[in-house]
Amino acid sequence: MTPFAYSCTASIAAAVQSGARHRSDGVREPGADFFAGGTDMVQLMRENLRNPGRVVDITGLPALDGIEQRPEGLRLGALARMSDVAAHASVREHYPVISEALLASASAQVRNLATLGGNLLQRTRCGYFRDPGAPCNKREPGSGCPAIVGANRLHAVLGVSDACIATYAGDFANALVALEAEVRISGVSGERAVPIAELHCQPGGTPEVETRLAPGELITAIDVPARFMSWRSHYLKVRDRASFEWALASAAIALDMDGQTVRDARVAVGGVATTPWRLPAVESALRGQRLTRRLAQQASESAAAGAVPRERNAYKIELIKRTVARALEETGALT
Ligand code: SF4
Repeated sequence: MTPFAYSCTASIAAAVQSGARHRSDGVREPGADFFAGGTDMVQLMRENLRNPGRVVDITGLPALDGIEQRPEGLRLGALARMSDVAAHASVREHYPVISEALLASASAQVRNLATLGGNLLQRTRCGYFRDPGAPCNKREPGSGCPAIVGANRLHAVLGVSDACIATYAGDFANALVALEAEVRISGVSGERAVPIAELHCQPGGTPEVETRLAPGELITAIDVPARFMSWRSHYLKVRDRASFEWALASAAIALDMDGQTVRDARVAVGGVATTPWRLPAVESALRGQRLTRRLAQQASESAAAGAVPRERNAYKIELIKRTVARALEETGALT
């Protein structure tokens, strides 16, 4: 691990100031890295894959670990622990897809430490990215992407580019996309809200740019609209082993049911795309229809539309469809 300067802060204003360097021409560059749960960050630093000169510990920031049911919806503090949110009675009752996605993530020990904000920003599990001896466009822009012709069984088939096919590794964000959540972000210019579906960037020609966070910006909270409280929701994760494993494919489902008919639907998938990935065509196929096993299978046929498979991950195309169909069946709304 490369030596670094460490400090703590108890103020969001001070944190965001330290998170950016101000050049003489007014441009802001990345400054100190923020540290909270550290479950991904420390691993990357130990392997010299991330070498911040300065680390600012934000775990002491006040009132960022709350879990609050408000009239307008659920507010989750960015420093709330994954395990606390997964176990929260209101989350389990009204937004089960969130609780299930969190419980499907990592291990119990990691969930006890990891924060929601850090979970959203976790880095890809691409083996080349995690190998300091391998070229990787995301880690060293312009060095190449060995995954495109190499070990790509776990890689993405949706949202890929010629520069990078790394899978977004998280589960929580997929549930949030299905619930049209917003992320609250603080920076030196003030606070703004960004739809979770717009937080992560597809790689395009700049895979090193993973989110729309500007230098120094800090996620402070996540807002989930109240309208989804009455919807049925469910998260299904398919993986190589039952615990402490990333998804081969996953599906987050939210259904607004009118008796046996789907009044409205939200469907997002993970483990198959470079960002959390919503499936509007599947949602359209469900809307206004009686939810049967046959409809679930028919609607999921478009789940892999636009997929670009590589030599070892073509199986994901069929897997996405089956995962979405099974997740729909498991919502308990099937007739
Ligand atoms: Fe790097 Fe992306 Fe290629 Fe993996 S898929 S080696 S992260 S550029």
